[in-house]
Amino acid sequence: MSFEITKELTKNPKTKPDSSNLVFGKHFTDHMFIMDYETGKGWHSPRIVPYQPILLDPAAKVFHYGQTIFEGLKAFRKADGTVVTFRPNKNFERLNRSNERLSIPAIDEKLALEALRELLLIDQDWVPSEEGTSLYIRPFVIATESALGVNPSEKYMFMIIMSPVGSYYAEGINPVKIFVESKYVRAVRGGVGNAKTAGNYAASLKAQEEAHEQGYSQVLWLDGVHLKYIEEVGSMNIFFRIDGKVVTPALNGSILDGITRNSIIQLLKHWGWTVEERQISIDELVEAQKSDKLEEIFGTGTAAVISPVGEISYAGEKFTIRDGSTGELSAKLYDTLTGIQRGALEDPFGWVVEIK
Ligand SMILES: *Cc1c(COP(=O)(O)O)cnc(C)c1O
Repeated sequence: MSFEITKELTKNPKTKPDSSNLVFGKHFTDHMFIMDYETGKGWHSPRIVPYQPILLDPAAKVFHYGQTIFEGLKAFRKADGTVVTFRPNKNFERLNRSNERLSIPAIDEKLALEALRELLLIDQDWVPSEEGTSLYIRPFVIATESALGVNPSEKYMFMIIMSPVGSYYAEGINPVKIFVESKYVRAVRGGVGNAKTAGNYAASLKAQEEAHEQGYSQVLWLDGVHLKYIEEVGSMNIFFRIDGKVVTPALNGSILDGITRNSIIQLLKHWGWTVEERQISIDELVEAQKSDKLEEIFGTGTAAVISPVGEISYAGEKFTIRDGSTGELSAKLYDTLTGIQRGALEDPFGWVVEIK
């Protein structure tokens, strides 16, 4: 299948940042992908152009009603120099599920994958090779029609931008402290919690700011109705190892269906672990901790991969998990998943896609 993606190459390639010292999401590659949508015309004019600002009318709907969705995935450079991505088809499937929820017209997933492949080939020198580094890829859609009426936009732009990023952890994986939020909520049943949309993040900033003030790096969200059942953390899904089993909140409509979450569940089952996807209350967690059955807590997401949790604060009480050290299962999952992603370990699930 050919999609006629037009290409305009930059005449002024940028100086690449020092890849031993990369800050998340600060530097962008030389090119970007853009495609437009207009009612009656559909998605059209897919093109790769030099990375540049875009011109939008101040009345563009995205500014007023937040009709926008995004994705996040990574490309890695293997030891032999080849560039690979991790389960990119899953990201474009989810992009369309988010699109559907936000009344944004679906995008041909094969075209999106081809656009990413061609963009990665053009900017392949931007994929860093140092241990722990990668090229973070941000596909997103914005509503661009200039009209202040509240109804789905008649015009959109789909773009892909890319940013070289460093290891999430400067000195190996380190446990984080999380604050169990019992004032603000992130999402409710029937809302947009399971869509990757900007509004979920805008709604979370206040809670994150207050948690930071108290020395916690992330917020653990409880369900929006009872403030009782655990949902997820910031931009990560959450897992608990309790009494020899692994428990993670079930996908109930208000939690994001993480691709790292899905991969971790598959890996754990492959290793023979019992994984329960179910409702888990904060009381059950506190009880497990008090009876010494809580063995590990870790978050999962594309940016950090695995983020062990060393301390949680709930209702004024602080609980230190395994003296604040990284759990052996968290460490093994991190090493295995990052090993598969960079081609250092075998890929029994066929997750890694070579870009060529
Ligand atoms: C993106 C995201 C995750 C993690 O998803 P991955 O596909 O594993 O990166 C978890 N929670 C929220 C709210 C997210 O936006």
